[in-house]
Amino acid sequence: MIANLAIALLIGLTITLIANLATSVYLHRSLSHRALELRQPLPIFFRVTLWLTTGIRPRQWVAVHRKHHAFTDEEGDPHSPIVLGWVRVQLTNVALYRRVANDDVAVRRYAKDFPQTPLDRALLDRALVGLGAGLGLLILLLSIVFDFPFWVPLVAAAFHLVAYLGLSGAVNAIGHTFGRRRYQNTATNLQWLAWLTFGEGLHNNHHAAPTSARFSLRRWEIDPGWMFIWLAKSVRLAKLRHESTKFAAATGQRI
Ligand SMILES: [Zn+2]
Ligand SMILES: [Zn+2]
Repeated sequence: MIANLAIALLIGLTITLIANLATSVYLHRSLSHRALELRQPLPIFFRVTLWLTTGIRPRQWVAVHRKHHAFTDEEGDPHSPIVLGWVRVQLTNVALYRRVANDDVAVRRYAKDFPQTPLDRALLDRALVGLGAGLGLLILLLSIVFDFPFWVPLVAAAFHLVAYLGLSGAVNAIGHTFGRRRYQNTATNLQWLAWLTFGEGLHNNHHAAPTSARFSLRRWEIDPGWMFIWLAKSVRLAKLRHESTKFAAATGQRI
């Protein structure tokens, strides 16, 4: 029982980490900021992974995030802890996200470079189908192939859901409230959060240099997402927009 529970939690954490890798490298650095270009099969792998593990529609994520950079911590920011309070952003991040994600005008405006493709319309924009298929695959793999009790995939999926939502909320709430501000912007750097989110915790660095693929700017800062990008680059699956860090204007808040 205890061993199975530990396995369920470990599998849930692994799914969250894979979803966070896809979020940081693909949705955030590649699609939203064009900091790097990914070559196939990475884009399709990340797109399908996000469909199965989060149900996120990239066009909507990109729009919400670009709006966040356009209005960082002022009226119009979809999830500002300075405007709304960090506890509210931490706990209601999904609702705040959906408010802009469901606003067609905002999505058209901020993600006009991502028109809906026939594959999106037919399958990949169907969030519940993706999440259902993801859960079905997990049940198939764990309970049927590996013969774990039926509750193991359910606990793993529930843990992933809570962890992914909690960490996404933390980047937006804690990552604009607590931690170090080395550059002149309202975001903060938190190495512990960067470990869990593939680098997103180095959020102050990111707001200072939003089009740079690398978030770690000092020797002691570790950006696991950058490690992945470096590996992908070495096998020609990724191409950077800038070879060195490119800082934005003084506030570092515009993309
Ligand atoms: Zn931010
Ligand atoms: Zn960003």
